[in-house]
Amino acid sequence: MQATPETVIYDRVALIGLGLIASSMSHAIRRGGLAREIAGYARSPETREVAREIGLCDRVCESAAEAAEGADLIVLCVPVGAMGPVAAEIAPVLKPGATVSDVGSVKRAVIDAVGPHLPAGVHFVPAHPLAGTEYSGPRSGFATLFDNRWCILVPGDADPAAVAKLRALWEGMGSNVDTMDADHHDLVLAVVSHTPHLIAYTMVGVADHLRRVSNSEVIKYSASGFRDFTRIAASDPTMWRDVFLTNKDATLDILGRFTEELFVLQRAIRMGDGDLLHDYFTRTRAIRRGIIEAGQDTAAPDFGRAPVKV
Ligand code: NAP
Repeated sequence: MQATPETVIYDRVALIGLGLIASSMSHAIRRGGLAREIAGYARSPETREVAREIGLCDRVCESAAEAAEGADLIVLCVPVGAMGPVAAEIAPVLKPGATVSDVGSVKRAVIDAVGPHLPAGVHFVPAHPLAGTEYSGPRSGFATLFDNRWCILVPGDADPAAVAKLRALWEGMGSNVDTMDADHHDLVLAVVSHTPHLIAYTMVGVADHLRRVSNSEVIKYSASGFRDFTRIAASDPTMWRDVFLTNKDATLDILGRFTEELFVLQRAIRMGDGDLLHDYFTRTRAIRRGIIEAGQDTAAPDFGRAPVKV
């Protein structure tokens, strides 16, 4: 959609990092005509070249500072471990009144890494869209990624007007928006995302190490449940390394609880306690039904693309 005075929320948006989330933001911002200009930067020349080739941004810049200079909203879309150095690089060029945000999957570590670099007069409103696929890179984004998905803002004591503006942007990109405290965000995400990813990585690792079942059998019969683990375990290794390194306490807490529950089920299987297993699975089934009723069950559209990591 053409950006008009009625649709524009920020004049100039800068996206730092041009992977799945940033490229989806660019498409979604354009779909809603939510900005007059989108500038973008990625660290590798190859990614910048692809971004130019597909017209992902109005301007693809040669440095993060060049993209951030004069922008009204700067969104850090790099792995969590890279947020601090990027913030340090852009800090000197940020204009007073600009808003800095991010899309990192962990919030406390990003706030600690980014906050100290930002000058007075710049608003910092961390965010996390709960939407994604296992694909990466500038070609993997699509305009509908955030539709009907939650985006959690972690505003702390940020200026309410800056928070309202960022909320409007995410709503314009199709999201439902909630606000949360950083530590609570990290605990909730450890339950619904981080620990499940770790379990998926582990299960795929188990299959890989098991010599009595061949890899070709694993692939052939994967529809029996394993396939969903492999999809999750195909997610970007850098992103997930950073998630576990920076959301350590909450992930270890949930992992400990998971292990305890696993022992309960393991014992029930060993002892032939069918009632316990049946009751347990009945309770978990209700959670699944709740997710479907909340409309959070639709998978990302399949574009028939090969995973692209440029
Ligand atoms: P992605 O597709 O892998 O893209 C990452 C981007 O960050 C690329 O442009 C990459 O540059 C750049 N980058 C990587 N390491 C960097 C470093 N050390 N310094 C500077 N730039 C670096 O990743 P993504 O899925 O969009 O994830 C971006 C952020 O969104 C992460 O913080 C992640 O936690 C969060 N997030 C991801 C999902 C998801 O499901 N994927 C969902 C919600 C939030 P090059 O291309 O030049 O290598």
